[in-house]
Amino acid sequence: MNAARVFKDSNFILLSGVLMKIKQGTLEDIMRAARNVYPKEFIAFLGSTQKNSVIDELVMLPSTFGEGFSSIRMDLLPIDKSIVGSVHSHPSPNAFPSRADKSFFPKTGEIHLIIAYPFNISSIAAFNAKGKPVRVEVVE
Ligand SMILES: [Zn+2]
Repeated sequence: MNAARVFKDSNFILLSGVLMKIKQGTLEDIMRAARNVYPKEFIAFLGSTQKNSVIDELVMLPSTFGEGFSSIRMDLLPIDKSIVGSVHSHPSPNAFPSRADKSFFPKTGEIHLIIAYPFNISSIAAFNAKGKPVRVEVVE
């Protein structure tokens, strides 16, 4: 599965009854950040500032460019209802969640993106909190 299928498929899966969308510009920020920190992992949280289920914000933590989720200072995560999920990069072409990813997802929201090498639109996949593939629509 790759992002081309994730994003172009018209049978969107609803999360909590709401179709999740992501701004094109936010997606581009994610791709740029993942390339910049490679071969390290890029990690950030996804925010929605408009309460309309459109992901339009990346929330970075001080450990954003660390060695994986184990290094994230969860205590620094803002108590902020605008956070809807997470995004992180894989330095390999494998965009499927690891066991560690699957245990991390439920703690940080409903929608989780993994961007795999080479960090383009075709190497992004989206998952729900249980690690099941979901679809996200890209909007302008
Ligand atoms: Zn991962």
